[in-house]
Amino acid sequence: MKTPATLAPDRYGFNFDNSYLQLPAIFYKKQQPAEVKNPETVLFNDSLGIALGLNINAIKKQAAQFLSGNMPYHGADPITQAYAGHQFGHFNILGDGRAILLGEHITPNKQRFDIQLKGAGRTPYSRSGDGRAALGPMLREYIISEAMYALGISTTRSLAVITTGENVYRDDAFPGAVLTRVASSHIRVGTFQFAAATQNLQHMQALADYTIHRHFPEIAEAENKYLEFLTRVIDLQASLIAKWMHVGFIHGVMNTDNMSICGETLDYGPCAFINTYHPETVFSSIDTNGRYAFGNQPKIAHWNLIRLAETLLPLIHDSEKKSILLASECLDKFPNKFLAFWLAGVRKKLGIFNQETDDLRLAEDLLMYMQKNTADFTNTFRSLGTEAINSAEISQDAGFRNWLELWKARLSRQNEPFTESIKLMHTANPKVIPRNHLVEDALNAAVNDGNMIILNDLLLAVSDPYADLNLPPKYTQAPELLFDQQYKTYCGT
Ligand code: AMP
Ligand code: MG
Repeated sequence: MKTPATLAPDRYGFNFDNSYLQLPAIFYKKQQPAEVKNPETVLFNDSLGIALGLNINAIKKQAAQFLSGNMPYHGADPITQAYAGHQFGHFNILGDGRAILLGEHITPNKQRFDIQLKGAGRTPYSRSGDGRAALGPMLREYIISEAMYALGISTTRSLAVITTGENVYRDDAFPGAVLTRVASSHIRVGTFQFAAATQNLQHMQALADYTIHRHFPEIAEAENKYLEFLTRVIDLQASLIAKWMHVGFIHGVMNTDNMSICGETLDYGPCAFINTYHPETVFSSIDTNGRYAFGNQPKIAHWNLIRLAETLLPLIHDSEKKSILLASECLDKFPNKFLAFWLAGVRKKLGIFNQETDDLRLAEDLLMYMQKNTADFTNTFRSLGTEAINSAEISQDAGFRNWLELWKARLSRQNEPFTESIKLMHTANPKVIPRNHLVEDALNAAVNDGNMIILNDLLLAVSDPYADLNLPPKYTQAPELLFDQQYKTYCGT
């Protein structure tokens, strides 16, 4: 990798490097974004731009041209990345069919971020796709990824959405758009599967060494760095999925190509948040068997990590048998690691500071009462310990009222006073999430009427989700039960 100090930012503050070009050429293809007819900026993320060290005033003037793909990039060498993936359990060779990596931006404090244009035109990996993206799904990715960031969940972020002035055709004509995605990297489980599929161990080793150097430099000298690498990815995913479960997030399409190695939530397609608690909740129109249902996510993450481990076997040990043994030992720890992360987060959600063996049972019982009473996941957690829980419908259940007593008794068995528990709970139980009906309202107004007010208001509401702000009630009210029963999300590809 080039040393960041040798780079000079352009007038927008972009400071591009492209270390990915050091990989064997099979991992990418050079590709310029396609020109678009009439680009217009509909969203620009000032605070992210500032965090990246960009020259906000300069870039905002030119964002439409620059971030639509219409301008040449100083110092950048755009590429499109190869990868493979298990899609709903079926292996395919894939690649960026509609995304172009402008380069890796090095921030003033020397952090490295991929700057990717999603919807930037056809690439050698497009297969039958048009390489384009529709405005709705790009706005959706912007809203949800920024909400996830505000919730404190590791995620790719969104710098801008630019409309192209051209239509894209799905089941109808929609305005086209390009999203600027910012990621610690776009290296996926599927990138490793692509390397393995080349059946060339040098490719595999090059990718593994590159990834370790980029994301886990501290393990470069470890005794078995590839096994250590697997362990790191397992830990990151166990922590990430636990956080999804803490806020009711359903990714919707946890294919191995949509699982990031560095533990960021990646690819916001048919994702959604649960309202009422039920582990079998599925909103994605294409997930007919519920493979990616809310409660299945830890299991699927484990399955995906096994696919990653398979690709690493030849690197872990010369003896395949020994390799499988070592990798299996790591993989078998995933369920308990996930549970530990999940329980640690749920203790916070319940205001618990110390540990008792029955805490898991206490948490599971609460979920059981929520499910039984079709209670709202977010609002039930947020209202625990306040007056609001007494007037909530779930409190008509005597079992739940008994649970409340057990919970209060549990809180009394720690040193911290109740007021401290409430403070802790307010850092872990969001007041606002981007509820599906709010997201749909915002997208409808933006796409159908060109009205961005509702969307911008929603972005503001979800930007500080744990604070006790006096927001209009619509941001915290759960929708009618029927809404969730009929709600479907689409990939929007
Ligand atoms: P996704 O469902 O967005 O994760 O995409 C799955 C695969 O389909 C990836 O290889 C994408 O690059 C590709 N793809 C999605 N949409 C398009 C499109 N409009 N044109 C070309 N390829 C696409
Ligand atoms: Mg994808």
